[in-house]
Amino acid sequence: MKEIILASNNPNKLREMKAKLGAFGIEVMSQKEAGIDIDVEETGTTFEENAVLKASTIYDIAKKPVIADDSGLEIDYLNGAPGVYSHRFAGENATDADRINKVLTLLKDVPDEKRTARFHCCICYIDEKGEKHIFHGIAEGRIGYEPVGENGFGYDPIFIYEGKTFAQLSGEEKNKVSHRGKAVQALEEFLKK
Ligand code: IMP
Repeated sequence: MKEIILASNNPNKLREMKAKLGAFGIEVMSQKEAGIDIDVEETGTTFEENAVLKASTIYDIAKKPVIADDSGLEIDYLNGAPGVYSHRFAGENATDADRINKVLTLLKDVPDEKRTARFHCCICYIDEKGEKHIFHGIAEGRIGYEPVGENGFGYDPIFIYEGKTFAQLSGEEKNKVSHRGKAVQALEEFLKK
């Protein structure tokens, strides 16, 4: 069985990747299961740079196939912010509610047509030969005026995709159309070949 290390300590990502790639005979291991206890600092200025940075760091230690991803929200009215800083947008110890409030405050009184935004995910897969393969997934939508919905995480309650926020979709519904779902789909197609 082919083994791939997921360069992340996020249990949600691990569960999702294990289920998806396990379905066709790939065992996904967490960094921890691979005995690598580090948190790679995301110093890149693009999602791709960060995904490559995380994957390369783990590959250099483990010398085994690795997957890493980086993702975030780009708001046109804010010239692409928060982008790679999505997690740190309202400070290091901020909550999802703090981040959402910051966005809503910055977009106060901004009309519908200027509230366009997208979630972007980049996955870097480094294979057994050390070759890098990059996959992108994008979900286009708009920023709402208040949080709506109970599901998901992060900016989901204010990201409106085709009339509903991501937080109003079930996990399965979101996966079919989300940035991460699309990037994982592209990786899956590649690995199946
Ligand atoms: P990372 O890819 O885990 O570094 O995610 C960066 C940040 O982007 C997260 O902490 C969230 O704030 C935001 N983000 C990424 N993907 C999503 C999503 O699917 N829904 C809501 N927020 C997201």
